[in-house]
Amino acid sequence: MERDVNPELPAGITPWHALPVETVYSALQTSPSGLCEQDAMQRIATYGANALPEAPGLHPVVRFLAQFNNALIYFLLAAAVAAMVLGHAVDAGVIVAVVVVNAIVGFIQEGKAEEALAAIRSMISPHAAVVREGARTEVAVRDLVPGDLVLVEAGDRVPADLRLVRARSLRIDEAMLTGESVTAEKREAPVAADVPLGDRQSMAFSGTLVAAGQGAGIVVATGQATQIGRISVLIAGVEPLTTPLLRQIDSFGRRFTIFCFIMAAALFAFAVSVRGHDWADALMAVVALAVGAIPEGLPAVITITLAIGVRRMAARNAVIRRLPAVETLGATTIICSDKTGTLTRNEMTARHVVTSTHLLEASGAGYAPSGVFTAIGSDDDVAALEASEEVIRCGLLCNDAALEQADGRWRVSGDPMEGALVALAAKAGLAVDHVRAEWPRLDEIPFDAAHRFMATRHVAPGGGSVLFVKGAPEAVLAVSASEAAPGGPVPLDMAHWDREIVRAAGAGERVLGFAMKANAGEDAGPLGLGAVEGLVFLGLVAFIDPPRSEVVSAIAECRSAGIAVKMITGDHAATAAAIAAQLGLDDHLEVVTGAEVDAASDAQLVTLARRASVFARTSPEHKLRIVRALQSTGAVVAMTGDGVNDAPALKQADVGVAMGIKGTEAAKEAAEMVLLDDNFVSIVAAVHEGRTVYDNVRKVIAWTLPTSGGEGIAVIAAILFGFVMPMTPVQILWINLIVTVTLGLALAFEPSEPGVMDRAPRPAGAALLSPFLLWRVVFVSGLFAVTTLSIFFAALAEGRDLETARTLVVNAIVVLEVFYLYNVRYLSTTSLTLRGGFSTPAVLMAVAIVVLAQIAFTYLPLMQNVFDTRPVTFRDGLIILAAGIGFMCVLEVEKVVARRLGVRM
Ligand code: ATP
Repeated sequence: MERDVNPELPAGITPWHALPVETVYSALQTSPSGLCEQDAMQRIATYGANALPEAPGLHPVVRFLAQFNNALIYFLLAAAVAAMVLGHAVDAGVIVAVVVVNAIVGFIQEGKAEEALAAIRSMISPHAAVVREGARTEVAVRDLVPGDLVLVEAGDRVPADLRLVRARSLRIDEAMLTGESVTAEKREAPVAADVPLGDRQSMAFSGTLVAAGQGAGIVVATGQATQIGRISVLIAGVEPLTTPLLRQIDSFGRRFTIFCFIMAAALFAFAVSVRGHDWADALMAVVALAVGAIPEGLPAVITITLAIGVRRMAARNAVIRRLPAVETLGATTIICSDKTGTLTRNEMTARHVVTSTHLLEASGAGYAPSGVFTAIGSDDDVAALEASEEVIRCGLLCNDAALEQADGRWRVSGDPMEGALVALAAKAGLAVDHVRAEWPRLDEIPFDAAHRFMATRHVAPGGGSVLFVKGAPEAVLAVSASEAAPGGPVPLDMAHWDREIVRAAGAGERVLGFAMKANAGEDAGPLGLGAVEGLVFLGLVAFIDPPRSEVVSAIAECRSAGIAVKMITGDHAATAAAIAAQLGLDDHLEVVTGAEVDAASDAQLVTLARRASVFARTSPEHKLRIVRALQSTGAVVAMTGDGVNDAPALKQADVGVAMGIKGTEAAKEAAEMVLLDDNFVSIVAAVHEGRTVYDNVRKVIAWTLPTSGGEGIAVIAAILFGFVMPMTPVQILWINLIVTVTLGLALAFEPSEPGVMDRAPRPAGAALLSPFLLWRVVFVSGLFAVTTLSIFFAALAEGRDLETARTLVVNAIVVLEVFYLYNVRYLSTTSLTLRGGFSTPAVLMAVAIVVLAQIAFTYLPLMQNVFDTRPVTFRDGLIILAAGIGFMCVLEVEKVVARRLGVRM
């Protein structure tokens, strides 16, 4: 049988899953304290990175050719052929050149957008917890090597093929390898050599998802040598650059193009049969129409606008995993947020210890193991500390965290609350490592949000075994039979504990309960939930976890933006309410508990969910019901999550938001967006950017369409009324593809308008173009057509030649475009401000480029030959400028009138 490894192994052909753990350690020259860094470096040189080959992207040539794969380009190329046949060689050449320039621009822009998105996605590349040189640390999954000792827990994606050396309630979803939908239970014991993959209980396979529990395993295969690598799965390639909005625009574009063709054909027939035009001239005219009426550059500019939005969000710590979220974020009406770590700092400090007889306060900040204890309600600090010792020791032993000092600061490796308990023990004078060595751990039940406690079984220094439990106070009290007292256990005084819990929680403190049981029967097999009963309750520890100060203003911003914020937490109702009040979450805080959610029918939950702003003691299943209830009212819901069980709620939410630091792989994969700093503020920043992106898309469209509309109207008028074309097809192409794309791109970079977060979210189903913007498109198209035709006929009437008149028309359209650009930058407020005038570097650069391009277009002999243009005089220039200023004034007046009438932009 082939071995499942990349390393060469000593004798025997027994596969890893059938070998005892000790043999695996020695075969891979590793130990329970892991590899040393140097060894790991050498091994990575030997075995290569732990990564699967990426699916190759499209070849650049194919990507370039794809730019031509579009009905409009076919049409333009056909027009070029027609022009060639009709002897318009220059026109044909220009059409081809413009099409090629357009394809090059599209190719480069698309490549840049894709690169940016890939770079942003790599900001959330997965890490694995490993033991190296005896200490727990994090390494990039790519850097894992055979022999590494990896720690996994619920929510992790197994980072390589592991031979498990420890499994605690470990269940893994292996559907992707075995097709088995029930999660597989894992153990350390070897299994028979010939069992199929799905029965190799002693292995965890790369790419599978840890559904529950904890474990540790030695890496036996990485990269392509893993089971998943062997079935040659390639990492999914780049996600397509598309969103519902782009698809909507694409399909609109296709229908519009067909409409234009039909119109063009009808006009061609009309021109030839009714007007008696020469068919060659008529053909060139309708080509001009089709080219003029279709906004060729629009899709490219919108894609770029979205990509810029993604980049801005990433700069504000919100990484978009799925492009459509950029649009949805702007429409968000409710943000459901976790409390711990998102609204609060997740920097815990144990402040109070409560026993049946004493209340002790600990000073100190952060995780530094220094501080003093003061008894509250008594003078005897020493007696209070003595009474608290068992609670503090229980907190140290029923604990997986470690403190480490780096750069003069104390940091936690593991759960912050557990880190605070280690610091508390050190403050109380316990020698942390010594105590942990004195009480070796035999077994444990990992913390799970479903039962809300953690239990560990230890060998007591005096012999026998002891069970330590810590968890949500109600959960621990429910399995306690008595409480510790100076003379030995006495019956539980529930009233005392309830009072103390409410007191601490009311102050915003997070409360944990502690209990123990002596003689916990170490021979009774693996520790199960059933063993956690009949405990002696020891006391409580209350922690402070201060709210993040910046969240207060972010919540205020949400409220002014018409976005409701709801806290959904596993914590105690009183703690949650106190923190919510400190954050100014709602004027009339209403707290609903998980139990009330359970008791409510789906219909009742809708009312509850709408009213309440805090959901406490909830489990992840409640989150799913709450999102559904809120969505049923038409709300667009963003929901945060970090655990493996949060994945369904994250998928259900309109925008699932996963935590980048404390979130599990499962949560990140289910989410649309990942927060690099786990901070609520970043969600609000993303909403802000989402609104800006959407505004900018609307601006781009509202700005582009009238140019095409104006050109279309002018050409149709010429055909219908039988006058000569005011522009040639190649001149129209020049405007639409060169000038319009350059100016339109500037809108993609627009910063947020003042007051983006002072207006209500846009209704979810709202059309992209509001009735006002539609009116605007029609109105401005009309103004474009009228201005161009007036200038055209005035020039002809003055006795100018046709070529000069056409040059004036093209220059006039470009000048109007520039003025209109300034007007559109502020949808509702006036653009005639200092800020509007100075505008952005992007706008100034685009205008400068366009001015230079127009000068070349008008005066450069080469361009004059190609585009059939003539130089214009200074006076002509002034007249065109005056037309532009007049046009701007009309539009500003229109804005004022619209605002007076209270029209929604
Ligand atoms: P949020 O949902 O806002 O992040 P949370 O961290 O309190 O809040 P959970 O992780 O579901 O939510 O925890 C629920 C409760 O379980 C906590 O309030 C605490 O009482 C208890 N608890 C949390 N972590 C542990 C742990 N490591 N050991 C024992 N009990 C814990």
